[in-house]
Amino acid sequence: MNQCAPWDVVVVGAGAAGLFCAGVAGQRGLRVLVIDHASVLGEKIRISGGGRCNFTNLHTNPTHFLCKNPGFVDDVLHRYSPSHFIALVKKYGIAFHEKHRGQLFCNESSKAIVEMLMAECHKGGVIIQHPLSVQAVRAPHDAGVASFIEKELKHHNLDSNQAANESGFWVLQTSNGFIQAHQLVVATGGLPVPAIGASAWGLELARQLGFAVTSVQPGLVPLALDPKDQQGLESLAGLSMLVKITAGQADADRLKRTDLSEANTKISYGQGIFTEDLLFTHKGLSGPAVLQVSSYWQAGESISINWLASQDTGARFDESRHGGKRVDNLLAQFMPQRLAQAFSDRLGLSERRWAELGKKDRARVTDYLTNWQVKPAGTLGWKKAEVMLGGVDTYEINPQTMMAKRYRGLYFVGECLDVTGHLGGHNFQWAWASGFVCAQALKAAETSRSSEPH
Ligand SMILES: Cc1cc2nc3c(=O)[nH]c(=O)nc-3n(C[C@H](O)[C@H](O)[C@H](O)COP(=O)(O)OP(=O)(O)OC[C@H]3O[C@@H](n4cnc5c(N)ncnc54)[C@H](O)[C@@H]3O)c2cc1C
Repeated sequence: MNQCAPWDVVVVGAGAAGLFCAGVAGQRGLRVLVIDHASVLGEKIRISGGGRCNFTNLHTNPTHFLCKNPGFVDDVLHRYSPSHFIALVKKYGIAFHEKHRGQLFCNESSKAIVEMLMAECHKGGVIIQHPLSVQAVRAPHDAGVASFIEKELKHHNLDSNQAANESGFWVLQTSNGFIQAHQLVVATGGLPVPAIGASAWGLELARQLGFAVTSVQPGLVPLALDPKDQQGLESLAGLSMLVKITAGQADADRLKRTDLSEANTKISYGQGIFTEDLLFTHKGLSGPAVLQVSSYWQAGESISINWLASQDTGARFDESRHGGKRVDNLLAQFMPQRLAQAFSDRLGLSERRWAELGKKDRARVTDYLTNWQVKPAGTLGWKKAEVMLGGVDTYEINPQTMMAKRYRGLYFVGECLDVTGHLGGHNFQWAWASGFVCAQALKAAETSRSSEPH
């Protein structure tokens, strides 16, 4: 048994949200311990943004998030804005630039952000222990119903008397003894990239404590095509093009009707429409456009691609000027020659001239160019996903504190919640904002606890 005095706060998960929350809480004077099961910390931040970490977005607002409770996202985001995080980045002298639509990237390496978070923790006297795994959690007797504890103890063959929790603390049974804390923060993130430490621990804990947890699925993920749809496109791997892309259902009621308490119910977050670059790959489609709509796509549905995006097409189909052109050359006005060739081959019209085509064939060409429907075979899964869609139901959490409504002293931050950002730095901004709101609340709770008469 670890004989240390109880920590004010234990944070499980030393990722973006956990480290940031711990640093802020530590600097507010709390005794904070962070534990993580990974041997190397900050790996997800290190690999993010292609190694340059797209750490926030100047335009982050709730419309950039998928959550069944958008008001929750708004409540949290407005308490810690991108400008707050940018001020911190500047304080550490980290050079950065805006790449595209408000996306801020480090000029050098994303390691600078990891080092900054570590330095903030150090400044707050935060202790970080890793690799350390938590085998069971026991709620204080006065925090809420702790039925989960019994199950966990049985699972690990422990004597329930030994672990009976009359202490009034959260008790964590770890691979290195017991740890006690007045407040517990779950910051274990989502399921993407299992090779660098992702786990369902936070989701399981929430479920076992009786919380609603929505179904989860990979988001911001490349899509695979069936071999028949991929036919003729294989040679295009590596080619990218600006498109307007649509996925999901515009029917807003669908979300309301979905019973998210049923584990296998898929969530629909409505319809996503983006004008971004699409990239052909060996397995199907990727690039920012496809990653964005993948978060709205449901298995079995089609996505629609307008290859002309915002191009002015009228003049280029003008018969008097272009009627003599072959279809592949006509299409090459709008897109790379290789793609124009592949499309006109698929339409069976490569050899034909535009002027020779009848109404029906012309309509096929325009439909192909402006509303190409394809049913992806699936996503490339957790290994390739950047985020997890779904998670702990936000109706379980108070957005002013990030504390669970059912359990006093238990908090959830970051990606383990049902809050998923679009591509472009919004997910990190969510991690910072939720971590910050939580840290403020931890301090307030600790102040009120320590002023209670003993
Ligand atoms: C390849 C890639 C690139 C990305 N690029 C960007 C980007 O440029 N901009 C952006 O905004 N977002 C990006 N994201 C998303 C972003 O990384 C996440 O949204 C963000 O890291 C979530 O923060 P978090 O703290 O909630 O979870 P994480 O950062 O995933 O941290 C969770 C931590 O919990 C630990 N943990 C998990 N289970 C346990 C357990 N059982 N016990 C102890 N510890 C545990 C993990 O080891 C990890 O350290 C990217 C994601 C990927 C995969």
